[in-house]
Amino acid sequence: MQAFEYVAATTVEEAVKALSNGKRARPLSGGTDLLAQLKEGRRQLDLVVDVKRIPELMELRYDPQEGLFIGASVPCHRLNASADVKNNYPSLIDSSHLIGGVQIQGRASLGGNLCNASPAADSIPNLIAHNAVAHIAGPNGRRTVLVEEFCLAPGRTVLADGEFLVALQLPVPSKNFGAAYLRFIPRNEMDIAVVGAGASVVLSDDGQTIQSARIALGAVAPTPLFVKEAGDALAGQPVSEESFARAAQIAQDAARPINDMRGTIPQRKHLSGVLTTRALRIAVDRARGTKTVDSLGRMNGTHG
Ligand SMILES: Cc1cc2nc3c(=O)[nH]c(=O)nc-3n(C[C@H](O)[C@H](O)[C@H](O)COP(=O)(O)OP(=O)(O)OC[C@H]3O[C@@H](n4cnc5c(N)ncnc54)[C@H](O)[C@@H]3O)c2cc1C
Repeated sequence: MQAFEYVAATTVEEAVKALSNGKRARPLSGGTDLLAQLKEGRRQLDLVVDVKRIPELMELRYDPQEGLFIGASVPCHRLNASADVKNNYPSLIDSSHLIGGVQIQGRASLGGNLCNASPAADSIPNLIAHNAVAHIAGPNGRRTVLVEEFCLAPGRTVLADGEFLVALQLPVPSKNFGAAYLRFIPRNEMDIAVVGAGASVVLSDDGQTIQSARIALGAVAPTPLFVKEAGDALAGQPVSEESFARAAQIAQDAARPINDMRGTIPQRKHLSGVLTTRALRIAVDRARGTKTVDSLGRMNGTHG
């Protein structure tokens, strides 16, 4: 492993100062990506700025007016165990439960998952489906960016020099809201998504009409892909397999995957449609409060 300096910041201001000092510096959350990249020589740094001692970055807080705030370094296991998350955003656990195994979830954060900007990151399509916002701090103060606009290319984000992610904010779910994230991998766990699909819906009070929807795909483009037109096509449509099929076709057409060791272009295109349909079915079940069992044998309505 290369030598680098290590600083543990305790305030946002300290972290900004350390990250802006002209050295090749990066924030450290759980380290499940960063330390592996340093060890394997895939990244060269002079300075690692540990941000886990900044209270705001470890805060997990639900506010009935403003929604859920997930500090950028909050590890997945805290989301999995949170009553606020289970009660208000059960589908978020679809992702936090999938990232690595139990040990990885003890360290890995959604903030790190987002800032690593892998096209296949499991939390990002789900965050996009939830309309999440990234709260950023930097030398020029604070700003917010929609998660769907955060990733620019594999490993590249909108973060400018000296900026870092403070928290993710998920709005309060509307009445009759439901969401889901599914991925396809060749084995049951500890692998990178061949395709991932996140979907959310808001239904009418009788549960028969889709008022609005959001769909995002992973691993089918250089960045996680928000397929706005697929969600828009569902607005005002009845909850039906025909409506899902139309949205799935739009998602499939929007996917622009590559061939690699994990999958081919035709397979990934096909999976984009299949997973979109399945995620929509689960999202609708959750919006209706229906308790059905998903492909992993979990109750869709409750997560437990
Ligand atoms: C065995 C194993 C299995 C895995 N399985 C999966 C999987 O199934 N699905 C999946 O999506 N990922 C998986 N991963 C990848 C990884 O665990 C996730 O991307 C994780 O969520 C990263 O979070 P972290 O807190 O560990 O980030 P870190 O490693 O600390 O950081 C990741 C990147 O984000 C930057 N960063 C961290 N915090 C901030 C911040 N606050 N502001 C700005 N930049 C920041 C870092 O500088 C670094 O570039 C796996 C990793 C391992 C080792």
